[in-house]
Amino acid sequence: MGPVDLHLHTTASDGVLSPSEIVRYAKAKGLQAIAITDHDTIDGCEEGLSEGKRIGFEVIPGIEISAEYSNGSMHILGFFLDIHHPTLNERLEYLQKARAERNPKMVAKLNQLGIEVTYEEVLKASGGGQVGRPHFANVLLEKKVVRSFQEAFDRFLKKGAPAYVDKLRFTSKEALHFIHEARGVAVLAHPNTLGVKGSAELEKVILRLVDEGLQGIEVYYPEHSAVEVALYKTLADRYHLLSTGGTDYHGIEKTELDIGVGRGEMKLPYSIVENLKALRNRS
Ligand code: AMP
Ligand code: ZN
Ligand code: FE
Ligand code: FE
Repeated sequence: MGPVDLHLHTTASDGVLSPSEIVRYAKAKGLQAIAITDHDTIDGCEEGLSEGKRIGFEVIPGIEISAEYSNGSMHILGFFLDIHHPTLNERLEYLQKARAERNPKMVAKLNQLGIEVTYEEVLKASGGGQVGRPHFANVLLEKKVVRSFQEAFDRFLKKGAPAYVDKLRFTSKEALHFIHEARGVAVLAHPNTLGVKGSAELEKVILRLVDEGLQGIEVYYPEHSAVEVALYKTLADRYHLLSTGGTDYHGIEKTELDIGVGRGEMKLPYSIVENLKALRNRS
């Protein structure tokens, strides 16, 4: 049985492959199931689900929501969402509107810095999906303003950099609530980006999230060290949370990270999907 991959991005957010393409790619690579988890949008799910049905491959409709958080970044994954749920759709439309206001502000900031970029160019780079900072980075790279994608973030786009504009976020409590309302299972993504110091502090954050309805932790993730994986697994077990995992594959080849396997170290069993299903059916 092939591995599963429960953290993937498509052109609906900042991934390179369309939902249909990523589903076909996952099947061709011998995976058993995938979850489509685009940033703040479920727009790729419908296409992914129907392509899955067409070619006989299991696709889980999901999302990755950026939540408000003081330190680093807090992302919350939702799995098995009812993508037609009205509250979920209304909440996400609100986020899209906020992004539509944020993006021209980032263009204006770049222009003020003397960089000639238009919103049309960024829109074009996004391929018609949701526009995010990676698309800005690609435009800057294409225009040779920077020499690498990372340089674009470091010099202009990262939090605190001169072209950065914050985006509107829901609190974790709000995000967990509307994931549940849409019958989804809520999981804390890659805890190592929270920027907490030490395991005691992390445990506190997780306890708060559990209180708000968290059901799992993304324990297996390419950027987690063996020590981190062990810590997250311990915490997940301690609070009866599901351990999930995924590669966060964006289809960017030069990162040497691939679907299902990460940098070669991942092989997540299908039992994770079964555990998610069991949780969904309980609520
Ligand atoms: P946005 O949703 O527009 O705020 O963009 C967030 C995305 O930008 C993340 O999912 C990452 O793919 C990318 N990103 C954020 N910060 C950095 C960084 N410091 N370096 C490289 N990529 C980043
Ligand atoms: Zn991304
Ligand atoms: Fe993330
Ligand atoms: Fe992600």
